[in-house]
Amino acid sequence: MIGATALASALKQESPAIPICFVGSHTSALPMEVLQLPFVDFVLLNEGVYALHDLLRTDLRSGLHAVRGIGYKSVAADGAVCPVLNEPQRVVPQERMDEDLPGYAWDLLPYRSRPLDLYRAHFWHAEFDHNKRTPFAAIYTSLGCPFGCDFCMINIVNRVNNGSEVDASHSRGMRFWSARFIAGELEKLAQLGVETVRISDEMFFLNRKYYEPLLQEIIKRDLRFRMWAYARVDTVREEYISLFRRAGINWLAVGIEAGNQQVRREVSKGSFQDVDIRDICRRVRAEGMNIISNYIFGFPDDTLDTMQETLDLALELNTEMANMYPCQALPGSPMYFIAKRLGWSLPVAYSGYAFFSYDCQPLPTKYVSAAEVLRFRDQAWQRYFTNPAYLALVERKFGEVQRANVEAMSRIKLRRKLLEA
Ligand code: SF4
Repeated sequence: MIGATALASALKQESPAIPICFVGSHTSALPMEVLQLPFVDFVLLNEGVYALHDLLRTDLRSGLHAVRGIGYKSVAADGAVCPVLNEPQRVVPQERMDEDLPGYAWDLLPYRSRPLDLYRAHFWHAEFDHNKRTPFAAIYTSLGCPFGCDFCMINIVNRVNNGSEVDASHSRGMRFWSARFIAGELEKLAQLGVETVRISDEMFFLNRKYYEPLLQEIIKRDLRFRMWAYARVDTVREEYISLFRRAGINWLAVGIEAGNQQVRREVSKGSFQDVDIRDICRRVRAEGMNIISNYIFGFPDDTLDTMQETLDLALELNTEMANMYPCQALPGSPMYFIAKRLGWSLPVAYSGYAFFSYDCQPLPTKYVSAAEVLRFRDQAWQRYFTNPAYLALVERKFGEVQRANVEAMSRIKLRRKLLEA
């Protein structure tokens, strides 16, 4: 939203007559707020495919009230502007995914000297080697997730209800493209010279009915990528790890979230099964796969002690990479509505929700202030990435230069407004 609003505002100033339409997760979470931005003319709820199709059949001025799934600005005879949100439109059904969401216009993306060279893989995905980061592409093979964790807003893009209290957990569910279709997209990427690919699905390692044929297809077509995919620590199935590996998935991003089981169970509405995290990580790595573990500090039930448990677990697991987030009430997530109900202070600017921004403003917990959460998170990150055991692991697995790259990264200190007071 930071970039989108800056761009839209500049475009509107330059060409006021050109209509601007917003779509995406944030727009689906807060459609009326987005519609009220002065440079936005239309919003689309959910992925907006059918709404956009129907909107483009109008002249963008008349008959708008009949277009489902859009919001627009109605202008009364006296010139008063009134934002209107129409009845919602359906999302693309599973059986129409290949036809109605038919892939990516890779060839239309700008590039410098070869396709996809303006896009960079994550530093760790490129094995901490800056030279391996481009060309790079990211692809979704499915949309959505069957779970409804309090801190997560990804399912808001499935929204088909306009109610003001609707959050992401009300529209949980997954839709998949066919294995043949996705393998075809990957083949196009291989032909464009891409070797590093992110599978962006929120929950790739979940439903073997979908991932198994796709991974088999990748192997059959002999597509050779460096890929990574998401799993939750309790959805990893040992018998499929080797298939992942053979298909070129050499990093697994694992949502561990919290070291304390009670804290984890609370924010996942009990959907997290109690599993032996240490054992799962051991088995994944035994297959030669790297792990990027994800942790969140500052869940509502977190204390300084439970956050320390999370850090201790991270240090003990010592995975090849770790993401450490401060907990945010992202618009569209159940947590956003909990925070509003409880009167917790929320960021006033989009950048306040950004994990690494200067004005990052996480949630407080029941026991700890937002500033303490942020301080703990930043110190935990420093501790992890300067830990001699971690640096030794990076050097052993990736090399000396890569270790030096990580050390250079950890010398960059984040400036935080909340911690300056
Ligand atoms: S955090 Fe992960 S498991 Fe939970 S709802 Fe989001 S994508 Fe699904």
